[in-house]
Amino acid sequence: MTDNPTIRRLRARPALVPMAMPLVTAGGAVERAPLVLIDLETDAGVTGQAYVFTYTPAALAATARQVEDLTPLVAGEAVAPLALARKMSAAFRLLGRPGLVGLALAGLDIAAWDALAKAQGLPLYRLLGAQARDLPAYNSKGLGMIGAAKAGPEAAALLAEGFAAVKLRLGYPSAAEDLGVIDAVRSEIGAEPRLFVDYNQTLTLAEAKRRVPYLQDFDLEWVEEPLPWDDYAGHAAVAAETSVPIQLGENCWGAADMAKALEAGLDAVFMPDAVKIGGVTGWLQSAGLAAAHGVQLSSHLFPEVSSHLLCATPTAHWLEYVDWAAPILAEPFAVRDGRARPSEAPGAGIAWDEAAVARYAADV
Ligand SMILES: [Mg+2]
Repeated sequence: MTDNPTIRRLRARPALVPMAMPLVTAGGAVERAPLVLIDLETDAGVTGQAYVFTYTPAALAATARQVEDLTPLVAGEAVAPLALARKMSAAFRLLGRPGLVGLALAGLDIAAWDALAKAQGLPLYRLLGAQARDLPAYNSKGLGMIGAAKAGPEAAALLAEGFAAVKLRLGYPSAAEDLGVIDAVRSEIGAEPRLFVDYNQTLTLAEAKRRVPYLQDFDLEWVEEPLPWDDYAGHAAVAAETSVPIQLGENCWGAADMAKALEAGLDAVFMPDAVKIGGVTGWLQSAGLAAAHGVQLSSHLFPEVSSHLLCATPTAHWLEYVDWAAPILAEPFAVRDGRARPSEAPGAGIAWDEAAVARYAADV
């Protein structure tokens, strides 16, 4: 029995990583993924790795700085993620965690779990007591707001990468345009592949109640965030109008937000974001809540760590695949025949390709 390693310091490097397929949402276009690459250095020769996505380059430098500013709070502490989470929650109780602080704390948490798994010589899922299994995955890296003419061929290209499911972003000026895009995709790919749609929080309640019922005829797996994410009552009202499951959760900041969403009594499925939900620790708490409510849980971004987490989730549903970190990873996450499996290497499956990290270092 060895002691847990002790934390020396946190290092954070901002990077702007080119996206193979820029993502155009109703909220704007993203062409380079702003990522903060985190190394948690220990005294035991293992380093924990994690990355967080800051959505906008404007938050990149501040998030990296926030991660490194956690060092005085954790240096000398054991790599015991639950104890660290408890300490951080006390340290940030007055400030609150949503926003950059939440991203930094989740980065610390994931890196700490990664370091602990490496110190034990185990892939993360095994440290969590789970078994590896095939997870159904959908290709989410394209199909932004590109219009009906481009959406069909792009859907076919995404499926050709070895998937049986893709996600479309909707929220065009009119319901007719939304339906035209789904129609174009369905006629291109046929009836077999599973289809998901995402409104990225762009509709008003009145518009969502009008538009979402139209989607029923397209055999969709779910409709994601038609309304602002925390309008649980509104989503419940929309859910009452349709048989297509409403998908929520990527913007929940911690398990307490998930609890509020679940208590709102809406008929929905959930997809926490491994970072916003609070890292591995926050995910496990949310997976417990979802299991208690009998609600299916999918992942949002971060396929590397999410594949481990879904194996440890009683109600695991779909894994969202994006390749945004692939250019800076030594072993990019792979999906074959629409199925994903967690990495068998010790840790969470994140190791830097240092030459690529140097190439995409952000000058912020
Ligand atoms: Mg979404």
